Amino acid sequence: MTAAVCLRNVSRHFGVIKAMDEVNLTIASGEFFAMLGPSGSGKTTCLRVIAGFEQPTHGHIEIFGEDATGVPPYRRNVNTVFQDYALFPHLNVLDNVAYSLMLKKAPRAERHKAAEAALDMVKLAGYGTRRPSELSGGQRQRVALARALVNRPKVLLLDEPLGALDLKLRESMQEELKSLQKALGITFIFVTHDQGEALSMADRVAVFSGGRVIQVGTPEEIYARPNSRFVADFVGSSNVLNPDQVSALTGERRWGSLRSESVRLAPEAGSALAGTVTTKNYLGATTRLGIDIGGSSIHALLPSGQELPDIGARTGLAFERGALHLMEAEQ
Ligand code: ADP
Ligand code: MG
Repeated sequence: MTAAVCLRNVSRHFGVIKAMDEVNLTIASGEFFAMLGPSGSGKTTCLRVIAGFEQPTHGHIEIFGEDATGVPPYRRNVNTVFQDYALFPHLNVLDNVAYSLMLKKAPRAERHKAAEAALDMVKLAGYGTRRPSELSGGQRQRVALARALVNRPKVLLLDEPLGALDLKLRESMQEELKSLQKALGITFIFVTHDQGEALSMADRVAVFSGGRVIQVGTPEEIYARPNSRFVADFVGSSNVLNPDQVSALTGERRWGSLRSESVRLAPEAGSALAGTVTTKNYLGATTRLGIDIGGSSIHALLPSGQELPDIGARTGLAFERGALHLMEAEQ
């Protein structure tokens, strides 16, 4: 099957800054693809290059099998939902949604019909006559989404679309976006710096750092089998063990990662790992202990319902054999 978007060795440099550095990605048609990484890692630049707002310094891009070099944004079958929504305050909701059709000179009745259908998709039927200022943050977000959907794009690019919403609203919008994407069958490329959001929504995740893609995989692969210290640290709560520590446990001199929820407490005698409790944070259903094992700390995420050692107490640590994941790279 033809990929929706294919980036081949794409770099985008701004002077000495390598905002994108030899990025290779193939995004399947109908996929919910997340680009995850810290601020400044090149995610927005990557979206802008796919959208055509930015030209690659090297490399090239294919959209549905066709070279996109020199193709302007409005002819790419790709639409973007921007981080700040960028709604027009003086237009009502219906005209905001219909705006791009107006630019394409669609007749008034036709564009309003299409805009109403798009508002219906995002559950805002009947809100057409309101001004953006009369809407909540979540509703404005939906208008921005409807405005992109009205063009019936094959690929929707979303740049941190839920960043401005409070946690509860963000969680319900995550579920809605996911089901909307499945219902419409549109390819979504979703940028976020929130690993929980990427893992819960995406079919596959690309982890970005310093303009490079460090790892691409399903949420399960990225979470359970990070290929590097960076991914282990950034995705979920993981303990990184250095080659000395891994060697003492397994005999292999490799960097390792151990998820906090895989660590259990055990009697100190007979445990290969032991240390002193230095932090204890109650998180509700779970409690996180920090344990100094001499030079580095291990975090353990434990069910709160059990009796847990206090700060200053000694404890041994145990984990299932498969829980220690040895990493390929150490960057
Ligand atoms: P992210 O979206 O992951 O936060 P960006 O793609 O916005 O990252 O930025 C990646 C890097 O490129 C940053 O160092 C940023 O400062 C730089 N950058 C982005 N756009 C420009 C630009 N137009 N001019 C100069 N530097 C830029
Ligand atoms: Mg950004």
